[in-house]
Amino acid sequence: MKLILLGAPGAGKGSHAKLISKKYNIPQISMGDIIRENIKQGSELGLKFKEYADKGNLVPDELVIELLKDRLKKEDCEEGYILDGFPRTITQAEALENITEIDKVLLLDCTEETVIQRLGGRRTCKKCGKIFHIINMVPKVDGVCDACGGELFKRDDDNTETIKNRLNVFHEQTSPLIEFYENKNILKTIDANPQLEEAFPNVEKALEE
Ligand code: ADP
Ligand code: ZN
Repeated sequence: MKLILLGAPGAGKGSHAKLISKKYNIPQISMGDIIRENIKQGSELGLKFKEYADKGNLVPDELVIELLKDRLKKEDCEEGYILDGFPRTITQAEALENITEIDKVLLLDCTEETVIQRLGGRRTCKKCGKIFHIINMVPKVDGVCDACGGELFKRDDDNTETIKNRLNVFHEQTSPLIEFYENKNILKTIDANPQLEEAFPNVEKALEE
C-alpha cells in the first residue's frame, strides 16, 4: 500500500502516519523529519535547509525530490509506505508520478483555528518523535515522553510568525494538490478536527474501502 497524507501543518499528518505505520506495518516517510535530520547533522545542505524551514518556506523541489528518491530505494519500502509531507507542490507530485504509482491520498481536512491552536502547543519527543500537546495531549510528567522517557521540545518553526507563513504556503503551493488527486479519483477526505483517537477510525475506514 502506497499512501500520501495531505493536509495543512498541524492537521495531524505525523500522528496519523505513525498509527497507520504501526497498524499496516509500512514505514512512515516524513519529509519534515528527513529535512530536520539534515539540519541537525549541520552539513552544508542542512544549513541551506535551515534557512527555508525556519521561515516556514518550502525547500526547493529538486532537492526534496532527490531526498525522496534516495529514501524510497531502501529495502523497507518494498511493501509500500506512507508519505507524510511529500508532495507539497505540483512539481513534486509530477515527479512522484515518474517514480511510482500511489494507491490512495488521504486529505486531513481541518479548520485554520484548529491548526493554529495545535501547532502553538505542540511538543515532540527528541528520542522517539511522539507528539504531545500542552493542552490537548498532556504528557504524564511535564516535558517528558510517556512512551520512552525522552525529552520533549518545541520545534523552532512552531512560533506564531512562522506558523502563519506555513499556512500561507500550504494554501498557495500545496492545496492545488487536492484537485490534482481528486481528478485521479484516489483522494479521500477525513475530518481531522477531532482528536487523534476520534479521527483515526475514519482513516482506517478510508483505507479499507
Ligand atoms: P508541517 O508541520 O508544516 O507539516 P513538516 O515537519 O512536514 O511541517 O515540514 C517542516 C519544514 O520542512 C517545512 O516547513 C519545509 O520547510 C520543509 N519541508 C518539508 N516537506 C517538504 C517538501 N515536500 N517540500 C519542500 N519543503 C519541505
Ligand atoms: Zn519518546
